[in-house]
Amino acid sequence: MDTEILKSYPLCHRCFGRLYAKLLHTSNYERGRSIKMAKAIELESKLHNLKEKSKCEEVEEEIEKIKEELSYLYRSGLTEIREIENVEVVDSSKCPWCRGIFQEENLEEILEKTLKLLREYQYDTFLVGTILPKSVKKLEESIKTPYMESIKQEFNRTMGKLLVEKTSKTVDRENPDIVILINPYKKKVRLQVTPVYIKGRYRKLVRGIPQTRWPCGYCKGKGCEKCNYTGKKYSTSVEEIIAEPFMEALKGKSEAFHGAGREDIDVRMLGDGRPFVLEIRNPKIRKVNLEEIKEKINRSGMVEVLNLEYGSKKDVILFKNKPHKKTYLALVECEEEVSDEELSELEKKLENLTIYQRTPQRVSHRRADLVRIRKVYKVWAERVDPKRFKLKIYCDGGLYIKELISGDEGRTTPSVSEILNKKCVCKELDVLKVHDE
Ligand SMILES: [Zn+2]
Ligand SMILES: [Zn+2]
Repeated sequence: MDTEILKSYPLCHRCFGRLYAKLLHTSNYERGRSIKMAKAIELESKLHNLKEKSKCEEVEEEIEKIKEELSYLYRSGLTEIREIENVEVVDSSKCPWCRGIFQEENLEEILEKTLKLLREYQYDTFLVGTILPKSVKKLEESIKTPYMESIKQEFNRTMGKLLVEKTSKTVDRENPDIVILINPYKKKVRLQVTPVYIKGRYRKLVRGIPQTRWPCGYCKGKGCEKCNYTGKKYSTSVEEIIAEPFMEALKGKSEAFHGAGREDIDVRMLGDGRPFVLEIRNPKIRKVNLEEIKEKINRSGMVEVLNLEYGSKKDVILFKNKPHKKTYLALVECEEEVSDEELSELEKKLENLTIYQRTPQRVSHRRADLVRIRKVYKVWAERVDPKRFKLKIYCDGGLYIKELISGDEGRTTPSVSEILNKKCVCKELDVLKVHDE
């Protein structure tokens, strides 16, 4: 085993052993000390033999060389070596790699800091992540062996063990509730708390509230005369009604509401609701009674939630990329009367029809102007009076229904207006179902 490195860096036993961490199942400290000892014994025996020989210049030189090698070992903490004089031992707190981070009082201090931060949070699992100063990373890079482990790994392991002992929580490498980021060289500790995800479906029972919080356009949320100093254009939203009781119960810092698509402000969301995931960031509490919160939300009279359960980040990604088919119910009003024959003709013509839809005028200020291709699969028409009828529409997600009916001055084609050859508008709209694939 090579101890050359000790000439340039007086590595402590533990750090020297870490260079060969993947060899022999023992602690880094013991491995490092053993290799140094084996080398020292070999050198000492050589020295012993040389001393038996008759003195000549060559022998003297050889003796000096061996003594020098031994002095490097001695300097790195192997004080068992005989015959070394005037060499100062480098204390492990001055070891260039660990700088004493594993010394008991240092571990103790970091442990205390960590426990103090953790005390504020409810959690079952954690993971320690060690942050190294640049200079240490550089050193590691330059002394690397094929058998080395990073000092990061050893510190993670050491701190992890201490924390398991103190907290009785478990280490989770895949999906920890809290990641504890430690820079042991600066004795800095920071927590990264995994958000809590709640998934379910919501029903919006009233018209006139947006899906997500809508800041006032004049003051951008700061509060002004126009918005009555609320900072909001709409006094509430589906997001706020659902998120507020969760924020309170989970003691979160902020939240994000992810819906599987959205309905317009004047559109209700009925049936068995629209899937959503609520993300509560930096929560101090992770476990709440979902049933109780559900009742609280449902008492709002505006929004109802169902099928609440705990989810994960994957759920958000999952339905952001998943187009859901929809069933709508529209109240259509025509300028002229519509006959029964025309209604049944409309049902036939719309079945499995491909619709070309340029970005509607009403959203063109915030959406790119492009042509979307969506399908209507089936419609059911039901007369209300001579000029009005209800139209149930089963279609692709992302189809603009108001424009499917009006035609949006030719930007949507074909449309109900075009097929009937009468000007029609959508007076009321409900989402009846967001279909799961
Ligand atoms: Zn060291
Ligand atoms: Zn305002």
